[in-house]
Amino acid sequence: MSEGLKVAIVGGGICGLATANAMVGRGLQVTVFEKASELGEVGAGVLITPNSVRHLDRMGFGAKLDEMGGRITDGSTYRRTDGSVVGPIKVSDTAGEYGVYGMHRADLLDMLAANLPEGTVRTGHECVEFSQDADGAHLVFENGEQFVADAVIAADGIHSRLQREVVEPVQPVFSGMVAYRGLVPADQLPNWRRDVHLVWMGEGKHFMVFPVRGGKLFNFVGFLPTDQATEESWSGLGDAHALAEAFEGWDPLVCDLLAHVQRPFWWGLFDREPISHWTSGRLALAGDAAHAMLPHLGQGANQSVEDGVALAAVLAKAERSTVAAALESYADLRRPRAVKVQLGARENGRRYDSQYANISMRDKEIADAGTLRSWLYDYDVECDLALR
Ligand SMILES: Cc1cc2nc3c(=O)[nH]c(=O)nc-3n(C[C@H](O)[C@H](O)[C@H](O)COP(=O)(O)OP(=O)(O)OC[C@H]3O[C@@H](n4cnc5c(N)ncnc54)[C@H](O)[C@@H]3O)c2cc1C
Repeated sequence: MSEGLKVAIVGGGICGLATANAMVGRGLQVTVFEKASELGEVGAGVLITPNSVRHLDRMGFGAKLDEMGGRITDGSTYRRTDGSVVGPIKVSDTAGEYGVYGMHRADLLDMLAANLPEGTVRTGHECVEFSQDADGAHLVFENGEQFVADAVIAADGIHSRLQREVVEPVQPVFSGMVAYRGLVPADQLPNWRRDVHLVWMGEGKHFMVFPVRGGKLFNFVGFLPTDQATEESWSGLGDAHALAEAFEGWDPLVCDLLAHVQRPFWWGLFDREPISHWTSGRLALAGDAAHAMLPHLGQGANQSVEDGVALAAVLAKAERSTVAAALESYADLRRPRAVKVQLGARENGRRYDSQYANISMRDKEIADAGTLRSWLYDYDVECDLALR
């Protein structure tokens, strides 16, 4: 059994903290090392879908999600630029008891952090060196501290420092798109429903909105093409005027919302090609470090939760001498699904941006999107593991 197994998680983002919660729940000794001086997230939303909600619920977060999330209901739709409906985003047939929530990213991170035992998260610890031998995995931090663990989880994000310990560094792939995103107080938009996820699909661009923070705020994201070289920033500031201009003449609902936007964040959309393996001995990659993906299936965070739950389950059954094999079994389970989602996110982006010779084909795929949602949302990583 795992009695005494010591796990270090590098990175205190959504993946690192969700993984830490899953591991604490399984009785593992966990320490999270975060390079920033305090935990924090940008002012934007993230969709939390049933494939992770079921695990967050089992960790005891069900009531918090209801309180802090914006629950998405039927009535959510895919639309054309003029507002006419292409198809429903029907959540009731897939979400079952577990629902889909829009969450403010900071609320999600706070919720995960607040549930961890005092002292679990050590901020101001940037991991700069990794090595391993038969006795353990050794971490060195920029502040001069060191740590030895039985297993290390690299949850250090899309620019992962630890990924190179596992595979040759992979280069970012630029999608040619930028996203403008931000939050608008719901009371400024009295005509809007506070419980739906709406996606407008135009040629080469799309726009989406969903509620967060109990429906008090709307999260919006406008996706636009660019021919400029963009940096991979999630927190640059964009021009509200240029954003409004790009969606001029679209559904009045969109134009109305954009009239309330003052300073959107700006985000160059990059992903990575799938990497060939995720582990090296006592080290395993998770979250964006393992499978950086475009946001078009809303799965980056949700796949990270699946990673964390799987890691906790395999390590809970491991001993010090079997850590490497346990991590390999995690990768064998998780990699095929995560790669499919990574590539599927690119594909879905083409749907949303109407990149089809025959648009009726796209509309048919959108009308059938329930099949894809069901594959994504009905999956239970713990059940899958138990069946192996
Ligand atoms: C605006 C936006 C919207 C998104 N919307 C969605 C969505 O709707 N649905 C969805 O599922 N996903 C979404 N995603 C993606 C999703 O947020 C990520 O895939 C998910 O949060 C997993 O990230 P992570 O924890 O692996 O990495 P990150 O969030 O990048 O966290 C990595 C952490 O590691 C720390 N770190 C880095 N290097 C080191 C080091 N050397 N030592 C110590 N610490 C280090 C960083 O400071 C950071 O805190 C969105 C992303 C963005 C930016």
